[in-house]
Amino acid sequence: MFSIPFENQYVTLGEGFFARTRPTPVSDPVLIRFNHDLAEKMNLDTVDVARDQLAQWFSGNQVPEGAEPLSMVYAGHQFGHYTPRLGDGRAILLGEVIGQDGQNYEIQLKGSGRTDYSRNGDGRSPLGPVLREYLVSEAMYYLGVPTTRSLAVVSTGDAVYREEILPGGVLTRVARSFVRVGTFEYHARRSDQEGVKKLADYVIGRSFPELSESENPYLALLETVIERQALLVAKWMQFGFIHGVMNTDNMSIVGETIDYGPCAFMDGFAINRVFSSIDQQGRYAYNNQPGIALWNLARFAECLALAVDSEVGAAVEAVRPVLEKFQALYERAWMAGMQAKCGLVRKKRNATPSQDLLIKDLLSLMHECSSDFTIVFYELSRLSDQAEKQDHEFLKQFASNQYAASDWLVKWRAALSAMGIGQKQRQSQMQSVNPVYIPRNHLVEAAIRSAEDHGDFSAFHELHEVLKAPFAEQKGRQEYQSPPNPEQEVKQTFCGT
Ligand code: AMP
Ligand code: MG
Repeated sequence: MFSIPFENQYVTLGEGFFARTRPTPVSDPVLIRFNHDLAEKMNLDTVDVARDQLAQWFSGNQVPEGAEPLSMVYAGHQFGHYTPRLGDGRAILLGEVIGQDGQNYEIQLKGSGRTDYSRNGDGRSPLGPVLREYLVSEAMYYLGVPTTRSLAVVSTGDAVYREEILPGGVLTRVARSFVRVGTFEYHARRSDQEGVKKLADYVIGRSFPELSESENPYLALLETVIERQALLVAKWMQFGFIHGVMNTDNMSIVGETIDYGPCAFMDGFAINRVFSSIDQQGRYAYNNQPGIALWNLARFAECLALAVDSEVGAAVEAVRPVLEKFQALYERAWMAGMQAKCGLVRKKRNATPSQDLLIKDLLSLMHECSSDFTIVFYELSRLSDQAEKQDHEFLKQFASNQYAASDWLVKWRAALSAMGIGQKQRQSQMQSVNPVYIPRNHLVEAAIRSAEDHGDFSAFHELHEVLKAPFAEQKGRQEYQSPPNPEQEVKQTFCGT
């Protein structure tokens, strides 16, 4: 009989880091989707396991043998305000497995019932947000953005009560680690230095074993987390992705995108775009994301400081220069990515000052003209070295200032000629980083509507298939590429909890 080969480690941290919690059964679990590709990577030999059995496990109705279900405790700064105890209010870690790559994968149910940390919540999730997280997190993976992944969607057969009555769902999601900045804050802000060190040692041992050789492993951990976040946020920016709720409890220590709530990909570009209905001040607006990442990392640095050096003054002296590296790391990653998007890559990758200006000029023009973020780079990737008729498709994205966009193309082509790369090679390089398909909000919304309102999952499955190959043009799937009509446009997103 098939069983999941659990090798649980989080549980070894012991009391003070979690509460053992069993999932609350649901009425009628039906498996909507199971991610066999991911299961294989995780060494789960599920191909022959009956769908009913998978539905039992991934709804929480049956706890698989070897699982040690628990909910993790953490704290967090939410919109800048500290809450001393949050924790998994509707999530339960089943346990961990070792994948084909030798790395660990933590398996978590989300929407599986109340836990010690539910406060006034019901521990449940409507099906809509579950489908949304499945689609967007998997799309991120195929775009090459570090992310938690999704293993299964189960509908529960139970109603979830929000402003309206909605069908319930359980998502099984998978991460290298579910430890967050907020997990460290929980211990640090209770002045539990032993707890901080224990957690840091665990994270190093589990996720970054090479750091244990460093002169000061805690300082090295800080540096690694900073580096990962800088690379992550640079990627978000390059796909027009807005996380929407970058609270410290939603920032992963291993640098994966986590907690897909009100997140969204931009259609028309606006540098300060906000989607989330609860982000009234625009704290988590598109262009604030790098600054907020740094703000969160400063909170992380505060947690680690006394582990780095038990003398406060020396700790601050040690930590500050590491934190200051973020800006340069981020800018370097951002610029390298933008150069690739624009085809301005030569052997030596350093951007020249004129390239820097060229890229920034393009973004200001896009902002001015509300150009579709994805289509601009898609069209640019298809232009030839010489001006020709096809330029029109690119220029269409700049309807309110085509003259400036034409001027920009002249300068772009001048810069291209200095790269010394053939047109074909340049185009194929650009097409490998500029997607044709992103999970556009109106498509995600339409898939959710037909699932929630009519129990029809075909749009969800089809959209997911398209997003598995985002850089390749797929025959007959033009509608997945197009921006929304004005009446399809999603102007605001909701946490959906
Ligand atoms: P989030 O906005 O998803 O990052 O969640 C913030 C906090 O609220 C976390 O501690 C969640 O576990 C908790 N939470 C969100 N929704 C629910 C729910 N339906 N029931 C219980 N806790 C919840
Ligand atoms: Mg969260």
